[in-house]
Amino acid sequence: MYTVRKGYRAITYHNWRHGFNVGHTMFCLLQTGKLRKYYSDLDAFAMVAAAFCHDIDHRGTNNLYQTKSASPLAKLHGSSIMERHHLEYSKTLMGEESLNIFCNLQKRQFETVQHLFDVCIIATDLALYFKKRTMFQNIVNATEPMADEKEAIAYISNNPIRKEIIMAMMMTGCDLSAITKPWEVQSKVALMVAAEFWEQGDLERSVLDQQPIPMMDRNCAEQLPKMQCGFIDFVCSFVYKEFSRFHKEIQPMFDGLNNNRAHWNELAEVYNAKMKAIEDEKKKLEEEEAKKAGGDVGKSKTCTIC
Ligand SMILES: [Zn+2]
Repeated sequence: MYTVRKGYRAITYHNWRHGFNVGHTMFCLLQTGKLRKYYSDLDAFAMVAAAFCHDIDHRGTNNLYQTKSASPLAKLHGSSIMERHHLEYSKTLMGEESLNIFCNLQKRQFETVQHLFDVCIIATDLALYFKKRTMFQNIVNATEPMADEKEAIAYISNNPIRKEIIMAMMMTGCDLSAITKPWEVQSKVALMVAAEFWEQGDLERSVLDQQPIPMMDRNCAEQLPKMQCGFIDFVCSFVYKEFSRFHKEIQPMFDGLNNNRAHWNELAEVYNAKMKAIEDEKKKLEEEEAKKAGGDVGKSKTCTIC
């Protein structure tokens, strides 16, 4: 655990605090969220360990930045660049005899753990999450009418693909879980995420000589509440809504998300009202200018009779 902690860099958001939170949330989803019943002890152990490792050695810049800046990591990995790096880093630690917490496993079991690390860590690439959404929803739909708990357990446990789809979705649920935390926590964490994005935006300007997108542009900081609402609606809401439908024990996360959505929306409305006031003032001035100019129409500036 100490070595994993040291593997995280002291950056604004993707630091050990985030790594620890994701590991903790995985434990909570398995235990409190009762998702543990679909998995073996070994599976659950690997999932928690992978969650703790999932962002190890993050540099505070995303996959697109690695590609655009032609970083060494981009040369090494064709897709899911950062996620493949976190995975490789984790596997290197596992290869160290004195650090390998899985060293007493049999060969087959160790291979299972390595495979689950692949599934879990690569799944944190949000680009892949969008592709798996429907598959997860189909599993939730299929289990919903099952009255017997054993039937649902068999439906999932006996099918490695279904197990892995749920596992991947759990990783997304853990990775984004700051959005479900009490408002006091969420409002602070959102600022840390934004600050790291703005640092990348600064690099895009200075190193790549490019204009960052609004999300990474510190000059658009006032739009943060509106962007948070969009992030909740288009990315996060699905995960917690479907998990709550799947297991009622996960409902508190969806409630937390909706509570934060209301707070961000309130702040977005304050910003909108401010922008509307500025816009109205501008319009008023323009109208007055036009009136003044209109009053002069037909009057010759040189003819005194007109
Ligand atoms: Zn993460």
